[in-house]
Amino acid sequence: MRIFSSILIITGLLFAIAPAANAKTKIFACEPEWASLAKEIGGDKVETFSATTAMEDPHHVRAKPSLIAAMRKSDFVICSGSGLEIGWLPVLLQSAGNSKVQPGNIANLQASSVVHLLEKPASVDRSQGDIHPEGNPHVQLNPHNIALVAKELTARLSQVDAVNSAYYKSQYAVFSEKWQQAIKRWESEALSLKGTPVVVHHMSFTYLNDWLGLTQVATLEPKPGVPPTTGHLEELLKTLNVHPAKAILRSSYDPDDASNWLSEKTGTPAIKMPYTVGGNESATDLFGLFDSTIATLKGATGDK
Ligand SMILES: [Zn+2]
Repeated sequence: MRIFSSILIITGLLFAIAPAANAKTKIFACEPEWASLAKEIGGDKVETFSATTAMEDPHHVRAKPSLIAAMRKSDFVICSGSGLEIGWLPVLLQSAGNSKVQPGNIANLQASSVVHLLEKPASVDRSQGDIHPEGNPHVQLNPHNIALVAKELTARLSQVDAVNSAYYKSQYAVFSEKWQQAIKRWESEALSLKGTPVVVHHMSFTYLNDWLGLTQVATLEPKPGVPPTTGHLEELLKTLNVHPAKAILRSSYDPDDASNWLSEKTGTPAIKMPYTVGGNESATDLFGLFDSTIATLKGATGDK
């Protein structure tokens, strides 16, 4: 009897120590677009967590205990990178002490490292409040970038969770096929937007403008991360009176006071863009994000 009990205890201990064969890979995403992409590729083999919502500014996040706890449990981290999360991600990584997901490891993917980075300065300079010293980190609004990140994510997940490698590759094949079809549709729908002059609050739409050929004529922020000043807005008003724009774009988390002020003075519509998954009611996933982005732009510019 005693032997039998001992066997039971030892077996129980072994089960407690060994990871469950069906345990899901826990993915910590810094922003909602990457959590959404991880769901597309990871399907039911992963559990995703987004550190921020579409209503939160991803440059400025408090490294609160719940985020540290999520980081500690994670098997994989995916973030925009290029300095977007410089104020909080390193703190989370250090506080969590999770060796699997430290920078440089395969389980730590910086999306901006696999795309062509725009606005990359000749040298890194954080002076005068510029929060894009390494280039523009808001890479998610060009769907071709999403495709590149999806490919890299699949390759890495297949290594981190090798047992499910075939599953991730098949999920990717399905996603990729649907995504490429959607890109063709979006590009055809947005043809009429080419050359449309727009003002942006923050440099959040650089990749969208680049993709669709929109012309960014001004930013409400005098420098990335520096809030609009009265002097800067007065100057913009003069410029826009001579060279009018068709829309003033802001992200789902930008404050609306500056764009509303300029809109009242110029008659140019101020538009809240979805910016990421969850940014409005239609942007429930990545497909909805781009459907809604193009529909919003066409609505704003009178090209419905
Ligand atoms: Zn930014």
